[in-house]
Amino acid sequence: MEYGVVLFFGVIIGSFLTVCIHRIPRETSIVSPRSACVSCNQTICWYDNIPIVSFLILRGRCRYCQFAIRPRYPIIELSNGLGYMAILWRFGWGWESVVYAIFFSVLLTITWIDWDYQIIPDVISLPGIVVGMVAAATVLPTGMMNSIIGVVVGGGVLWFMAWISPFLFGKEGLGGGDIKLLAMVGAFLGWQAALTTLMVASIVGAVIGIVLLVFKILKSGQYIPFGPYLALGAILALFYGAEMMDWYFGRFQ
Ligand SMILES: [Zn+2]
Repeated sequence: MEYGVVLFFGVIIGSFLTVCIHRIPRETSIVSPRSACVSCNQTICWYDNIPIVSFLILRGRCRYCQFAIRPRYPIIELSNGLGYMAILWRFGWGWESVVYAIFFSVLLTITWIDWDYQIIPDVISLPGIVVGMVAAATVLPTGMMNSIIGVVVGGGVLWFMAWISPFLFGKEGLGGGDIKLLAMVGAFLGWQAALTTLMVASIVGAVIGIVLLVFKILKSGQYIPFGPYLALGAILALFYGAEMMDWYFGRFQ
């Protein structure tokens, strides 16, 4: 029952995230006007705007012009709902879980915006760093000191890599957005988690990059955004960070 409530709530918030993902890169208001069809511009009625349900009833098409609605909308809504359920399952009820739910939604939003536009908006990552530090100092087990070190280490490591990569690879590999994103992860979860995040992101990014090159889906030198990999790494660090650190350091004892 409680999982159903959290799923429902997560899907509703997820619906708001789809609006943010669509509008923040375009620098338009996320509150008004009401959502409209991207094809015929007809305002969408409330009963056609129910997350997932309306998509199924309308069979993925606009009521007015039959334009195909992108399945990403229900995918984003559902993944946010499932993410909230996983957080409840892992961390139980409490303020800690509320903060993790916000953190999860922010990562989901950043992932899609970076995928679409190859940018991570400062209006998300910079307030995220502040919220992360405040939460770490109050309700999270991270603690204030670890959070501050997390910002410095997370941002610093990527800043150094961005600085050195033109010398090593002859091209710019990382953007300032990635630096601020990993600083935000450090603010919420601490410096160990920031390093775990970077490690996971690098490994998964390298493997997927090689697969895409081998199957010629990606041309050599084509840019892949790093933000989605960092977000994936951060979610794994959130759920399994402690186990991963234990495993890693346990090997040296
Ligand atoms: Zn339409």
